[in-house]
Amino acid sequence: TRQIVLASRPVDIPTKENFRFENIDLPEINEGEVLLQGLYYSVDPYMRGRMNKAKSYVPPFQLNEPFTGGVIARIVETKSDSFTIGNYVLGSLPWRENCIANQKDIHQIDATVAPASYYLGVLGMTGLTAYIGLIHIGKPKSGETVVVSAAAGAVGLVVGQIAKIHGCRVVGITGSDKKAELLREEYGFDQSINYKTAPDLEKAIAQACPDGVDIYFDNVGGDISDAVISHMNFHSRIPLCGQIALYNNSTNVSGPRLQPRLLTRSILMQGFMVNDNQGLFPEATECLSQWVKEGKLKFTETVIHGFDQLPAALLGLFDGENVGKMLVSADED
Ligand code: NDP
Repeated sequence: TRQIVLASRPVDIPTKENFRFENIDLPEINEGEVLLQGLYYSVDPYMRGRMNKAKSYVPPFQLNEPFTGGVIARIVETKSDSFTIGNYVLGSLPWRENCIANQKDIHQIDATVAPASYYLGVLGMTGLTAYIGLIHIGKPKSGETVVVSAAAGAVGLVVGQIAKIHGCRVVGITGSDKKAELLREEYGFDQSINYKTAPDLEKAIAQACPDGVDIYFDNVGGDISDAVISHMNFHSRIPLCGQIALYNNSTNVSGPRLQPRLLTRSILMQGFMVNDNQGLFPEATECLSQWVKEGKLKFTETVIHGFDQLPAALLGLFDGENVGKMLVSADED
């Protein structure tokens, strides 16, 4: 089977040279194990951090070892009492076309409730992240103004729609006119801003948020966040979800010191890691599934076809090539 390993560690922006394809032979499966065929592979911004050597909240990928991440797979052979051939499962698995997993490292998903790939997106980490950050840190109230960055991405699209469900006015920040239009026309955002072309981002935010900002769901950090934070209201909240604008920097970047503003306006800023909130998963999953079923929460994927495309798909996240959840499907077309 083919696998993709970390060939070298990137400095700043990663390139295809950091990835290597290899052919390997898999051994026979043992008792309690299954043989899997990969169907959908998730690519996520946090994987960029794992390409560095430094330990973060997840350990780094090892040189010459396969990348790992969220994968939806089908059981093709089993020596486990818990799984039968044809079952769909989710696990944190190596980037291999076929792989062997222990039964305790995978769990079955119900592909009749929703398409299998949704378990990597709205019914998986993406949806949980959006829900937990917005509801439990942001605490949205009807009539409040919510700004979300990377708004047309996987997490951002879900955040904006949940904020609308809660009666908020929602402003999305994104990197192209096409995405900005989609946010308004397809996903019910009240306003959207293209951060790449806005001549003055601070002014654009002031115009889009005449009553100031009550919740800023921060996916990006850097200059965009500085511009939003300068418009935040008294007692406003910042769920700090991601800092993608900074992931490719090997050196520290400096910006305005915003702490005095947080202090004088009693602003709450709280970072969170979705996996530290397992206790909230049942509640979040129930709400998300219900909203999807009722048609209140639309979910969009950018599916790139072919196992070969995994490196390009991961790198594409940093060029904004996706709308909604970026995925690679194993089939070629
Ligand atoms: P997205 O689907 O949002 O993909 C990333 C998007 O970020 C791109 O489409 C691009 O859109 C935007 N982007 C890329 N580079 C920059 C940049 N330099 N400045 C501004 N925007 C940029 O990914 P996810 O939804 O999976 O993740 C969104 C954020 O949430 C990430 O920061 C991620 O690390 C974080 N996250 C955090 C979790 C947690 O537990 N805290 C869990 C999951 C995700 P555009 O065209 O608009 O620029």
